[in-house]
Amino acid sequence: METSNFANYTRVEPDLEEIQKRYNVLFERIHSATDSEACLAAVKDWDRLLQELTEWSQLTQTRFYQDTENPDYKAAQDRLDFIWPKYLDLETQMKRKFLESPFRADLQKATSPQLFNLWQCKIQTFDPKIEEDLTKESKLSSEYTALIATAQLDFNGKSLTLSEIGQYFEDPNRATRKLAYEVRSAWFANNAASLDQIYDKQVQLRDSMARKLGCQNFIELGYQRMPRIGYGPEEVSAFRAEVKREVVPLCNHLATAQAQKLGVETLMHWDESIYNPNGNPKPQGGHDWMIERAREMFKQMGHGLDGFFENMLTQGLLDLKSRKGKGAGGFCAFFPLLSYPFIFANFNGTRADVNVFTHEMGHAFQVWSSRRLPMSEMAWPTTEACEIHSMALEFLSWPWMGLFYGEKAAEELRKIHLTSSIMFIPYGVSIDLFQHMVYEHPEASPEDRNAMWQEIEQTYLPWYHYGELSAPSSGRLWQMKQHIYSSPFYYIDYTLALTGALQFWRKSQVNHELALTDYVQLCRRGGTLPFSALLESAGLHSPFSEGCLKNVIADARRYLF
Ligand code: ZN
Repeated sequence: METSNFANYTRVEPDLEEIQKRYNVLFERIHSATDSEACLAAVKDWDRLLQELTEWSQLTQTRFYQDTENPDYKAAQDRLDFIWPKYLDLETQMKRKFLESPFRADLQKATSPQLFNLWQCKIQTFDPKIEEDLTKESKLSSEYTALIATAQLDFNGKSLTLSEIGQYFEDPNRATRKLAYEVRSAWFANNAASLDQIYDKQVQLRDSMARKLGCQNFIELGYQRMPRIGYGPEEVSAFRAEVKREVVPLCNHLATAQAQKLGVETLMHWDESIYNPNGNPKPQGGHDWMIERAREMFKQMGHGLDGFFENMLTQGLLDLKSRKGKGAGGFCAFFPLLSYPFIFANFNGTRADVNVFTHEMGHAFQVWSSRRLPMSEMAWPTTEACEIHSMALEFLSWPWMGLFYGEKAAEELRKIHLTSSIMFIPYGVSIDLFQHMVYEHPEASPEDRNAMWQEIEQTYLPWYHYGELSAPSSGRLWQMKQHIYSSPFYYIDYTLALTGALQFWRKSQVNHELALTDYVQLCRRGGTLPFSALLESAGLHSPFSEGCLKNVIADARRYLF
């Protein structure tokens, strides 16, 4: 890394005209290429250009998330939203040329057939006639992000962000938890009109884009955009059936056990995140202390995670503390020119903070492990595969949980982690099914959408009880999920990946070292293969094969009861 610290890293916005010129030169080179070497050289030069654009766009987005109230960052983000479709247009033209090249077979061999499958899928998702729509779509997503990030909630005399109030969801005092949920619910109820309006505009816009591109509806386009290779809505529906059959009954059982342990008659919404009447195990120190524990954990884990984490620290590639104006949530971005990822999170003093080291570090380590693959686009696999790396590392770090929680609490923590992971699966498929229903009926009103959500809850989340909480009891829980606004059809990824990650958990119960070795190998494969093939390469069952959850759920039941 040339700059000493990521905090000082800047990129100048590329000049559109100049980029267009570079593209024209590349187009000409492909057009006049007389052999595959010449064509491949053009591919490589184009990859360098893409890296520059990615570097700038990732940095712009990251800075905006780091401080959504900074007018310069906001202006740069707006500029990016406006200009990006133009770059997308050029990129799509380029991919089309490679797909149609007489040297395609050689190019595929030198890079990867998966890359060409992805391009085939991606080129169908863009046409200059939707360029303006894409700009509008990004703006609407940014509107949601800013609305959520600037929320100020009054809680017991304190002013908190939506991220910060999350720490009280695990408060041992039931009345405090309930109040925290009420305050959050009230904010969502008060902002319901804006939240409805943003989503309504997004649904109409996405449906209209799909139709302009010749798709039946946005479901088809949404799958292409992800992009889904080798499976479609039918396979996802089969997975949903498996979840209903295998997972929902165990979740009902787990919810009853949780209520008993807490000594409450019914597990209410404000009890869902708490597993011990005295409070969940909490990391025993703050931000700086946890960094040191994480350092120790990765040092012992080895396999390259040790040195990698050290470098992330030295280069200032972690921004984990919560503060006013900072965007919500957590993510990992990759900077191809720095050859390093960056981790963004909002610490709130709960076990979620430890997840950052295990989940986001999984993403970061994977993309870094794949940084030298022939094309930068192959550094990341498709997103459902990406989440295997993150979630599997959460399970593979089980032996070191004592460092964060103390040995006594660590075992309780492991059970909580496994329980909450399992109970997440039906929620994840619900968020996904909701979007299928919404985009199948774009004409539905905001009220209709809330009714759709409630119908889903009855099937997949029968243990949810909201009491008087106004927003969720009127079918608005889905509005708290950023992915629904910003990343349509993304959410199922977490459940598909969890099916893979839980298999790593099973493996690690038998032989941890072997599981870790397989994990690192999988990280290095990056995006060279489609999802199912990546699973297969690591000896894992596909979530679309019948019975994929049976063994894992049976083992989890044995571990937990
Ligand atoms: Zn993730």
